[in-house]
Amino acid sequence: MGLVETPSVEKRINILREEINQHNHLYYVLDSPSVSDDEYDLLMRELIDLETNYPNLIVSHSPTQRVGAQPASHFPSVIHSEPMLSLANAFSRQEMTAWYERVCRSLEVDHVALVCELKIDGLAISINYQQGILSFAATRGNGRQGEDVTGNVKTIRSVPLSLKGVSDVIEVRGEVYIPKTAFNELNEQRVKEGEIPYANTRNIAAGSLRQLDPSVTATRPLNIFVYGIGEVAGLTVPDNQLDMLRWLAVMGFKINEHIQWCNTIEEVELFHQRWEQQKNELEYNIDGIVVKVADLNHQRTLGFVGREPRWAIAYKFPAERVITKLLNIGIGVGRTGSLNPYAILEPITVGGAKISMATLHNIDYIQEKDIRIGDWVLLERSGDVIPKIIKSLEDRRLGSEKKFEMPDSCPECSQPTVRISGEVVVRCPNPMCSGQVIRKLIHFASKGATDIQGLGEKILEKLIEANLVEDVGDLFYLTVDQIEALDGFQQKSSMKLYKEIQSKKDTPLHKILYGLGIMHVGEETAFILSEHFGSMDAIVAASELELNTVPMIGPKISTSIKEFFLDSEAKTVITKLQNAGVTFRYQSQRSGGGKLIFDGDDFAVTGTLSTMTRLEFEDLVRKAGGTISKTVGRKTKYLVLGEDPGSKIIKAQELGVLQISEEEFLAKLSGI
Ligand SMILES: [Zn+2]
Repeated sequence: MGLVETPSVEKRINILREEINQHNHLYYVLDSPSVSDDEYDLLMRELIDLETNYPNLIVSHSPTQRVGAQPASHFPSVIHSEPMLSLANAFSRQEMTAWYERVCRSLEVDHVALVCELKIDGLAISINYQQGILSFAATRGNGRQGEDVTGNVKTIRSVPLSLKGVSDVIEVRGEVYIPKTAFNELNEQRVKEGEIPYANTRNIAAGSLRQLDPSVTATRPLNIFVYGIGEVAGLTVPDNQLDMLRWLAVMGFKINEHIQWCNTIEEVELFHQRWEQQKNELEYNIDGIVVKVADLNHQRTLGFVGREPRWAIAYKFPAERVITKLLNIGIGVGRTGSLNPYAILEPITVGGAKISMATLHNIDYIQEKDIRIGDWVLLERSGDVIPKIIKSLEDRRLGSEKKFEMPDSCPECSQPTVRISGEVVVRCPNPMCSGQVIRKLIHFASKGATDIQGLGEKILEKLIEANLVEDVGDLFYLTVDQIEALDGFQQKSSMKLYKEIQSKKDTPLHKILYGLGIMHVGEETAFILSEHFGSMDAIVAASELELNTVPMIGPKISTSIKEFFLDSEAKTVITKLQNAGVTFRYQSQRSGGGKLIFDGDDFAVTGTLSTMTRLEFEDLVRKAGGTISKTVGRKTKYLVLGEDPGSKIIKAQELGVLQISEEEFLAKLSGI
């Protein structure tokens, strides 16, 4: 832009950012919005327009930059300036009392004040602010060293990108979680598709935060509660846990409201009992409470042993068990043709959720546990793991219970089923099976793939029924008239869906690849493949051996990919997509001018790298346009130093080759 910004533009931008931040805080942190969505959108629109016209005024903490980060090829590691501890567990009142007495003895006091908080089932995260601006965020990792997930954490709306009135360094620790409703929806989908459901909300939170592409993370409804601090410089921290939490809330962080000051261990017990009863009313999962010594000076005195603090403990809830009746066993057809048995239960409430379905995995699982239709079964929900059938209650059988057999034919298309020897899964071999076709289409249109809004199961059923769609390739050939002819569509709505589908022709390669629904190729694997090969043609052409040499792609995945693309059905789909004008767009990590970061640079390495293997290192260099030499020579530009470097250093000094640490290498790679 050739425009010269005037001070008034900059001023307006700052006012807008402040106003939007304020509304974000009210909406996402305090849950009490003061403007309508439309009013909010107007402010955001104005800011985006100004930043588009004055791109040099864009800063990383602008509210427009939440989902701006480019996909990464790996997560650089971060050393925590203060270790991130994990908590020891107590499961009974006796264990709690023993801990309390130990604490008192160590402090040489008779009693000590405690603060109780809820134990959120999520993923611990550390967020660092420099001069009040979000600098980086990292996972716990092994406690000393975690992974840099800044781009992903920024997509969480309740995480402030900048802090008001804070000019120094502060690192906060919190728990990233996913609300129960979103968890249940995701899992029901997975059970039907024959995928293993996520065991708990923590797994989803972790999986979502470890996406290499922040735009995928942004589609997951993640949230955060901040509960503590790490490194702090230049700020006066209140002297007890409760005041510290309030202090963080004033700074703009989201703090859980259910906190209690306890003067005795009896009060702790009451808090524990109360939340064991009331936990189901919460929107998020908790699996116990966390009890901390209130005084921060006491916390420092007590310190930690190993990776566990002496001044805090998790007081867990016991597992919940209920009995219900197994009404029937249903069969879902997955998109790869797997027939997935699931339990249809007499609806029952366990852990606050009404349960009417549970996975039965496969026929071996059912036979091993001798589960029969009509049985009374014991369901367990431990912590916040999803309920599972522990066993059938044999002594309650009446004789009318029926043993279950996998059907000989597919419940959707009636084709005879097959069971490959050595596999536990029974499959429908018919690629045109309506059960599989609809699952494939739903998957292709889902959020992590092409994200076609308004193309749900019901509409897809109609399209299949009308013989308009047989596979995902057909979607792009649908005309407005064809859509309009479907039951329930008008001219306006059919035009809208048509445009939506057409706009997805430019979906990035890795999302299309994921959307094809290749067995064992999840979002992460699809991304790795797209980064490695750079085009759909190259992936289709790759031999099993080539696939196998890609870091993080094992033989099982390679075989599955190769088999998929050798199939004539897949070839048809790819051709259809190509002819329809689907671009398979590949975004590499190219810098602004279209040049790769290490374009033409030659690298050598010495010593042991700590965050990656040699192969992974070489891969990163090549993908960024560089070359690798086994020895240091005249054309070598950089020598990367690992631990215990060898004689290459001397050669590098002689030739004046630049020596950089592994950290510096990673920083260069991310364009810092
Ligand atoms: Zn079938």
